[in-house]
Amino acid sequence: MNITLTLPDGSKREYAHGTTGLQVAESISQGLARNAVGIFLNDTPNDLSTPIMADANVRIVTFDQDEGKQIFWHSTAHLMAEALEALYPGVRFGIGPAIEQGFYYDVDLPGDMKLSSEDLPKIEAKMVELVKRDVPFQREDISWDDAVQYFKEKGDEYKLELLEGFKGQSITLYKQGAFTDLCRGTHVPSTGMLKFPKLLSIAGAYWRGDSNRQVLTRIYGIAFPKKQMLEEFITMREEAEKRDHRKLGKELELFMISQTIGGGLPVWMPNGTILRRLLENFLRDELIKRGYQEVITPHIGNLNMYRTSGHYPYYSDGMFPPIQFTDETGREEEYLLKPMNCPHHHQVYSSKPHSYRDLPIRLAEFGSVYRYEQSGELSGLSRVRGFTQDDAHIYCTHEQLKDELINAIELTQLVFKTFGMEVKTRLSFRDPNNTEKYAGTDEMWNQAEREIQEVADMMGLDYFIGVGEAAFYGPKFDFIVRDAIGRKWQLGTVQVDYVMPERFELEYTGADNAKHRPVIIHRAPFGSMERFLSILIEHFAGNFPFWIAPVQVSVLPITDDQIPYAQALTQRLLDLGYRAKLDDRAEKVNRKIAESEQKKVPFALVIGKKEVESGQVSVREHGIGDKGAMNVDAVLKVFAELKNA
Ligand SMILES: [Zn+2]
Ligand SMILES: [Zn+2]
Repeated sequence: MNITLTLPDGSKREYAHGTTGLQVAESISQGLARNAVGIFLNDTPNDLSTPIMADANVRIVTFDQDEGKQIFWHSTAHLMAEALEALYPGVRFGIGPAIEQGFYYDVDLPGDMKLSSEDLPKIEAKMVELVKRDVPFQREDISWDDAVQYFKEKGDEYKLELLEGFKGQSITLYKQGAFTDLCRGTHVPSTGMLKFPKLLSIAGAYWRGDSNRQVLTRIYGIAFPKKQMLEEFITMREEAEKRDHRKLGKELELFMISQTIGGGLPVWMPNGTILRRLLENFLRDELIKRGYQEVITPHIGNLNMYRTSGHYPYYSDGMFPPIQFTDETGREEEYLLKPMNCPHHHQVYSSKPHSYRDLPIRLAEFGSVYRYEQSGELSGLSRVRGFTQDDAHIYCTHEQLKDELINAIELTQLVFKTFGMEVKTRLSFRDPNNTEKYAGTDEMWNQAEREIQEVADMMGLDYFIGVGEAAFYGPKFDFIVRDAIGRKWQLGTVQVDYVMPERFELEYTGADNAKHRPVIIHRAPFGSMERFLSILIEHFAGNFPFWIAPVQVSVLPITDDQIPYAQALTQRLLDLGYRAKLDDRAEKVNRKIAESEQKKVPFALVIGKKEVESGQVSVREHGIGDKGAMNVDAVLKVFAELKNA
């Protein structure tokens, strides 16, 4: 008896009933068979050893695909567990999933034992040794009772607790070498594939994310099929560490996070404030050119407004709990720290009647919002509890929608181009199999998604479609940028919304004298100032271009005799609008130069006796070095050119 398998290119092939994924791969090419890590049968991942019993659409994946990487990395989590068990008998295991970059496993070490990052090389060496044994991952289907029996004997309370969640179901175990794990799969065919593992770090993690439970040891790692891939990863990681915005933020005194103020609530230091204001001003100038009007709205809002929008209670997980009190008249009041600016702007819109001639109305605000993130998730400026969006809402007629979308997208593109970031666009659509997650009618959604795609085609955007990535009120454009070292970040968004105009009963009077609903575009080119700056700091490795550098010029007199000349020069620069800083400390000039370099100040102007006499300065450019003596006017000309670049 034969089965028919449909390959990704649409071609159909006949195979014997019970053919395995590996055999299918072999029938295509030996190279594919060597590199295959799993097979998707009708979009469900399976081991390559699974016999295929019925007609199916098949897709064989390798490490080159994201799904293949997930299988590869998750398999490496099992490998690490085997190594841990060999080194530390009695260790018990929580969960060990693949993550975006690698995997982790949460483990509980026997007794009072603790692991530190110094132990990682030893574990890694054991993993490499196990890889050389090259044993298969074997799947075993057993009854729930037998699984419980197995982990009882092993004494692994965590796996027993996990099993409680699968009561009565058939259980799968996976075994490789001496290690058996409770797991649904999928895994690579054998450990020999996991050639180049690397353990990265250790952290504490609550069992099941519950702060009332035990703290387990979480070990992070990654693995690659080729040595070169591992080496590239390590180089990249070192580069990323050097650029880490948390480290640079401290060194360059851009921002701080004080536990006294509260976790996830960043404070902008003077240097960071300059940077942020310059970005805001850059955008504000563009907004004025593009017909936006700026508004300022409060940081909290009545809870009922968020009931109208639907944010409360449906999205209350991501918000701070309501502020509840009884006012002096005995009335119960409920407010919310605002999680988004939209409902506030809708109030501005509806504060007076509008005719179609007034539209589009474009309301912009650098609006601060507050979201609840678990304390363990907080990180620098990238995961915070309070942040400022460069938000705007465009209220337009349906006829104006496409032009307004184009305008908003062009502004976003201008932002990324200005900072030299490559961008790809995702059209984020709803998941048609899960429509209850979204507000609004099918008709609205189909129309909005069609319009978005038409605009993307009209603009010739380099886009892909992300199913299930839409906002609850409408589809959107999301922009994924690549930074200077090739990392991808989701930044900036332009969203179409037919739902909120209904919920807030927004209106305008049309040419027909009848009432109509406007369409809303929500858009934020930076997204959040905090997140954008975290990425910008890393993108430039703190070496900001001249126009946004918090300090642009250091003025460095060699001895006290040159201080009056240096003071006058500094003042001249300040008067011309440059951010210049005089270093008149009684330090050696080499020390002053080194500090200016460390602070990544684009230019240092060194002034000695000779320079004073000749009316010159000795110019040093950050990252380039000594450029020799120049007349002050020539230096000012260079600055003026950079300022306007
Ligand atoms: Zn597994
Ligand atoms: Zn909005």
